[in-house]
Amino acid sequence: MSKEADEGVCTICPYCGVGCGLKLKEGEEQGEVRLQPWFDAPVNEGALCIKGGASTEVVNHEERLMEPLVREDGEFREATWEEALERVTSEMSRIREEYGGNSMGFFGSSKCTNEENYVLQKLARRYGTNNVDNCTRMCHASTVAALRESLGAGAMTNSMQDLMEEADVYWIHGANPAEQHPIAHSKYFRQAALEDTFVVQVDPHVNKTSRDADLHLQVKPGTDIPLLNIVLKTILDNGWVDEDFVEERTEGFEHLVETLEDFDVEEAADICGVPLEDIERAAEVYATAENAAIFTGMGMSQHACGTDNVQNEINLALVTGNLGRPGTGVNPLRGQNNVQGTCDVGAMYNTLPGYVPVDDDEGRAAVEEVWGFEVPTVPGLSNVEITQAAGEQVHGLYVMGENPVISEPNGNEVLELLDEMEFIVVQDIFMSDTAELADVVLPATSWAERGGTVTNTDRRVQRMRAATRVPGNARHDLDILSDVGTRLFGEGFDFDAGDPEEVFEELRQVTPIYRGITYDRLGLEGVHWPCYDEEDEGDPFLYEESFDTPSGLGGIRGVTHQPPREVEDETYPFVLTTARLEEHYNTGTMSTRSPTLIRRTPENFVDINPVDADRLGVEDEAYVKLVSRRGDVVVKASVNENVKPGVLWSTPHFSESPINRLTNDALDPVAKIPEYKASAARVEVDVEP
Ligand code: SF4
Repeated sequence: MSKEADEGVCTICPYCGVGCGLKLKEGEEQGEVRLQPWFDAPVNEGALCIKGGASTEVVNHEERLMEPLVREDGEFREATWEEALERVTSEMSRIREEYGGNSMGFFGSSKCTNEENYVLQKLARRYGTNNVDNCTRMCHASTVAALRESLGAGAMTNSMQDLMEEADVYWIHGANPAEQHPIAHSKYFRQAALEDTFVVQVDPHVNKTSRDADLHLQVKPGTDIPLLNIVLKTILDNGWVDEDFVEERTEGFEHLVETLEDFDVEEAADICGVPLEDIERAAEVYATAENAAIFTGMGMSQHACGTDNVQNEINLALVTGNLGRPGTGVNPLRGQNNVQGTCDVGAMYNTLPGYVPVDDDEGRAAVEEVWGFEVPTVPGLSNVEITQAAGEQVHGLYVMGENPVISEPNGNEVLELLDEMEFIVVQDIFMSDTAELADVVLPATSWAERGGTVTNTDRRVQRMRAATRVPGNARHDLDILSDVGTRLFGEGFDFDAGDPEEVFEELRQVTPIYRGITYDRLGLEGVHWPCYDEEDEGDPFLYEESFDTPSGLGGIRGVTHQPPREVEDETYPFVLTTARLEEHYNTGTMSTRSPTLIRRTPENFVDINPVDADRLGVEDEAYVKLVSRRGDVVVKASVNENVKPGVLWSTPHFSESPINRLTNDALDPVAKIPEYKASAARVEVDVEP
């Protein structure tokens, strides 16, 4: 345990990607921790939202896993670590001997540190596979793909600070920061909006962010490309293009012009369900501002056309010259506290640490030299593909802190597929729906009990610090992975480095954007990546001089409307879309166990427009059955005008009414992100809860 402040230990909130700092002080009882404000915390200066304020409630929780569990005759029983790890390593060895290295899948976790995810992906590659992924596949994989392809880095182009100080317009598309990134919203974005920053929000749902917006474009789910094409066409037709910027810093502009040549704005506005004049006004506000910034969320990324959705935002920023300066850019708001870092350190099926493609011979060789073994050269399977390959290519699953039974789309099929796995090991702090299916469950430590680094939404790498003792027989994820790696592969591949700082020292050797960062340099402030050497202070905003693309130019590429893979029909006349509320966190393994958070919204619900409710005879607060081609779920109806007629809105947060049993597992062909945001559904009434 380290104490770096007079009172309490400075660490980082375990929930969202804003990266708020807080202090913890150990209480009298074992495991008891008390929260204190950290007034000098670099991101939040002491402020916390409801989740951060309740974050200690899961630390000393009575349902914490304390002992390893092994399945015997269909039931779990407690086991020693020796027995549990022996079961894990002997099963992994057997599967590899029988089927080869590509027969296991590995799920990293954005709830875990950079060091833990780094060791997990290295373990997968030493095992002989690139079948390793993390939940970014479910949230921003398409954003990362588009940003990397067209600008260079799969991350926010700017920092919260410069966006607050310099932006004249915020274009918030498919995101709801007031609920999902509350401190970023209250401390940065709302402050700017209260002064004179004009806020445009594009979202199918009226939410806390739209209530503060100057202009809310309530788009029909899955029609973001035509909406942005109206914006782009309006900009072209009115001569609002930044011609110097386009000439000097971009390529592909002609393709955009050709794509929009015969584009019919009135027809497109009908498709979007938004008045044309509102979209044209938004276009003018954005294009004529001195500095305009785009924020992009999962309303854009979680579509089978997610990569093209984000590309169109990039098109908008590039044609108006809104990149490479403070107060501009294309800025994905990341969900979990370390989803950015989990990708940075290579827990992905197609990239090694530092986003080196696995099929890049030179880049791979540099990593192999440090690791001392050969890395498979072919990209592996994404997390949804790993599940879909159960019983065929994939026979075993290693899950660190993830819960695919609730988080993956088409959940009924996920349950059937996981049943096909010959062996599943889960390491977690609570018994999740996925852990219930496992052969071995390994008790891990919580955020308050371990140290390491995490990377927030604006690329700030920060240190988490242990504030309390490890409960029962739990072990750190890093120790578990190191033990598994050493047992499987012997000593000599550095799996026995148990100290997070030691792991970070190796990590930065193979991750160029982290190379200049050390634990000492991180101190209490953290460092923004890219940070290439120890003199480099890190970059709060990117691309001042050039883009990190092979040509150094920003890539413009025109895109056209792609309706959702599944559209409404007579049997399924609604489009169902999903999102979360401030008190929600992913599949709820932590947040539904937090009394403060679950009190606020104790059960799942669906927003339905009064016009539809009247027609179907749905009373407010009555239970209804939502049905899609993949399953059904009973939830409470909330009759309100937050959605337009024909649209249903619910949350994927509750394992008792798992909305992802209904969602579509169609994937974006580039980024392999599922289409959570638009499924065809119907509503059945007169059902019991
Ligand atoms: Fe934690 Fe995010 Fe809330 Fe900050 S905004 S306290 S990081 S959940």
